[in-house]
Amino acid sequence: MEQEQGREILRRLRLKVTPRRLEVMRCLGEEQAYLSAEEVWNRIRPVLGSIGLPTVYRILDELAEAQVVTRIFRSDRTQYYFLCPNQEHHHHFICESCRRVEDVDRCNLDGVAGEIARRSGGLVTSHILQINGVCGECSRLGEGGRGRDAA
Ligand SMILES: [Zn+2]
Ligand SMILES: [Zn+2]
Ligand SMILES: [Zn+2]
Repeated sequence: MEQEQGREILRRLRLKVTPRRLEVMRCLGEEQAYLSAEEVWNRIRPVLGSIGLPTVYRILDELAEAQVVTRIFRSDRTQYYFLCPNQEHHHHFICESCRRVEDVDRCNLDGVAGEIARRSGGLVTSHILQINGVCGECSRLGEGGRGRDAA
């Protein structure tokens, strides 16, 4: 991600443009994959010098609240993050092997809100959906006998 693009996103979110926020976004934007906070920290430390891991967590959480960064859930109890500039409502298909993330534009959950309202009178305000699996490239490699990391 270009610095200018990062600045624009921060301005749009009314977040102050700081070197730390820009660097976290640049680091995540370089990847088509999800990273842990510690991995982001290790990558930006050579550029920013002294920055604590708690600060990295704070920035990632701010960006997640602003919905520029998506939290990725895995069974290893580590929190992962993925930067997606797509602001339309959509979901992510994550590869559990190589950590690639693909956008899934279709969302068939609208009917669920109606069903919940009918059944219990409850009101749906939002939903989180993450689709896990193995990407096309990894499935092809898997057939060739290369191991996957089991979740
Ligand atoms: Zn993969
Ligand atoms: Zn996305
Ligand atoms: Zn949806």
